[in-house]
Amino acid sequence: MTDTPVFQIRDLHKSYGALEVLKGVDLTAPRGHVVSLIGSSGSGKSTLLRCANLLEDSQSGEISFEGEPVKWRGTGADRKPADPRQVTRIRTNLSMVFQQFNLWAHMTILQNVMEAPVTVLQRDRAEVEEAARGYLAKVGIGDKCDVYPAQLSGGQQQRAAIARALCMEPRALLFDEPTSALDPELEQEVIRVIQGLAEEGRTMIIVTHDMGLARDCSDHVIFLHQGRIEEEGAPSELFGNPKSERLRGFLSSTS
Ligand code: ADP
Ligand code: MG
Repeated sequence: MTDTPVFQIRDLHKSYGALEVLKGVDLTAPRGHVVSLIGSSGSGKSTLLRCANLLEDSQSGEISFEGEPVKWRGTGADRKPADPRQVTRIRTNLSMVFQQFNLWAHMTILQNVMEAPVTVLQRDRAEVEEAARGYLAKVGIGDKCDVYPAQLSGGQQQRAAIARALCMEPRALLFDEPTSALDPELEQEVIRVIQGLAEEGRTMIIVTHDMGLARDCSDHVIFLHQGRIEEEGAPSELFGNPKSERLRGFLSSTS
């Protein structure tokens, strides 16, 4: 069914001890859509992404992947995913790109991109290599296959991290502030790659402090405030006609 969202989160609650970080959040990632998450530092954006791909446990609410609800055992603080195979399937299909690129320093760029498809997904090495070279070329660093991460600029390292995420052939890409560790001129080269992926119709969730990126690339924008969705909608509405006072304050503080 083409209109089943890639993943869907309903009424998600997440606490760290006594600190409730997500207070009933909904998020739908329709296939081929880009959803941006914006909000102040500490509003829960990273936590929401990490809960979506089950890197973090959550205490209540539903998460479904391609229409299939995550199976849980236990409740509240004891709630855990029940099926390790389902967890692996979801995690490998929702590839994350982090602010700090997290490339392995002792591996070449090509080895970095090939590692997970070969070891986790156990795909054929020669096929993975061909795909990896293709993705590195696609993000504009096809000539950097044999160098080590330290030999690349931050923007090139982040593009390598995007190629690595793509090489998993995931159903969706999750970006957590992909440009915030970069100098402004390097930020643009990463933004162009993300814009290209949006134009290809990739399903993406992008946490970003870059309002230009959120406005230009997204189909839907969510403004989180202290663990709740304060406002959401089409980028033209959210940026052109923000309704909540908090969102107006946030937007004026970022421009
Ligand atoms: P954002 O990404 O929007 O800046 P986060 O999701 O990182 O926000 O954090 C939301 C809140 O959860 C913050 O108050 C943060 O301090 C807290 N938090 C995040 N990770 C942890 C953790 N591992 N343990 C305890 N508190 C955490
Ligand atoms: Mg964060």
